[in-house]
Amino acid sequence: MTAIILDGLALSQKIKNELSEKVREYKKKGSCPKLATVLVGNDPASRVYVNLKKKDSEIIGIDYEEYYFEDISEKDLLALIDELNSRKDINGILVQMPLPNHIDSNTILERIDPLKDVDGFSPINVGRILLKLSDLFPCTPKGVVKILDEYKIPIEGSDITIINRSNIIGKPLAAMLINMGATVTVVHSKTKNIKEKTRNADIVIVGVGKVDFLTADMIKEKAVVVDVGITRSEEGIVGDVKFDEVSKKASYITPVPGGVGPMTRAMLLENLILCYQKQKDCAR
Ligand code: NAP
Repeated sequence: MTAIILDGLALSQKIKNELSEKVREYKKKGSCPKLATVLVGNDPASRVYVNLKKKDSEIIGIDYEEYYFEDISEKDLLALIDELNSRKDINGILVQMPLPNHIDSNTILERIDPLKDVDGFSPINVGRILLKLSDLFPCTPKGVVKILDEYKIPIEGSDITIINRSNIIGKPLAAMLINMGATVTVVHSKTKNIKEKTRNADIVIVGVGKVDFLTADMIKEKAVVVDVGITRSEEGIVGDVKFDEVSKKASYITPVPGGVGPMTRAMLLENLILCYQKQKDCAR
């Protein structure tokens, strides 16, 4: 058997087309959503991510403003966040992570107005997920859920193992899936016998950042496999799944590239539009 490919690229394009249409309607009515990104330092991967956000913004026609600092103090960065929070024309604020060591990421994330938190990383928005009060979810977990939903893969009643416990992937994703009725196991680098926890799962979601981490012997027949991992190699972007062998045993599988990555980018745009709409509703 060969697994069905969960085509995140195609789905992300469909979503972007729908968002472009919405933006055209807003523009006809005389306004346009606007994203502000903030990049600090010279991390090449962060620069790539910010450039992609700019490109995606142009594709769907939203306004975009970028702030770049080779270096900045935490105090000055907080002052910038305050200014962006107060500006009516800015609907979403994204501070590219990781930040340099002298800046506390949690302090920065806590300062972003939850209504403009397009990444969904602020403590208030993460807490709202736990309480099942949220409609704004972090982009990668939201992208994973959306792609499972698109292919009608059942979540309610499923056993799902997530290999990742980070604040941006594993923890919010676990909360979202529990809220949707899944039985979720979260494993990480300190977990004993990971294979035991993945082999029983209907869905395995892996985001470790290690090439060929998930092998065929770690999944059960016909499991659904979602590969969140990204490693840059000379051949391009590679995921965590040993694709050749796992795709022969799984029922569905995301490719890398073309799976979760483009979904994450599309979900950022969706979150921006959601923030824009919420702010308009609040202003009424
Ligand atoms: P992270 O904070 O470093 O988290 C990595 C997770 O993997 C941690 O929970 C870590 O466990 C676990 N891990 C590491 N080695 C392990 C091992 N040998 N066995 C079991 N678990 C292990 O990174 P992140 O920001 O969550 O990102 C994870 C991966 O996803 C990276 O490859 C990143 O590039 C990628 N990513 C992809 C997207 C996308 O859109 N596709 C978006 C964001 C990130 P501990 O917690 O115990 O250290």
